[in-house]
Amino acid sequence: MDIRANHLGIPLDISELDGENLSYFRHCAAHAFHLQACAACHLIRYPPTTACPWCASADARWVPVEGRGTVHSYTEVHHAIQPAFRAHTPYLVLLVELDTQKGQPTADEALRVVGNLTTAHGVLAPPEMVREVGIDTRVRMVFTDVAPGLALPQWTIDETARGSAPPWRYPQE
Ligand SMILES: [Zn+2]
Repeated sequence: MDIRANHLGIPLDISELDGENLSYFRHCAAHAFHLQACAACHLIRYPPTTACPWCASADARWVPVEGRGTVHSYTEVHHAIQPAFRAHTPYLVLLVELDTQKGQPTADEALRVVGNLTTAHGVLAPPEMVREVGIDTRVRMVFTDVAPGLALPQWTIDETARGSAPPWRYPQE
């Protein structure tokens, strides 16, 4: 069955023909992060796809993956793309390198998962939290519920990893 939802003014539709994404977001809706592991070469992949990007095998199984990692890069958004985002600017889009499968199959092909920076409750982070986060910040996954069968994987600061050096951030005016 199709999923048709709306998140802060953005339509989020998943066709019933898109089995990979339906499975992916069904796990997220249960607040459990799963990715496909190739049955042939055993590498885990992201985003969900019909075939392994390394060996082209179509056989895969869903495996639980720990939602923990390090910010690899980020974008700080100051111009809202939808009116509903205006109240949340500036907000961060994070590219997070997972601890799982780090450096495999090469250092440049690690698992990197996109999400917003949110509070621990999955709401877009307030400005004081945005200012704390940059490259190398340790984060953990949380979920934003959108509709039945659909939740978005997001990122929040990993409180257990605080106290290390400040992260790298783009120079501020
Ligand atoms: Zn493979």
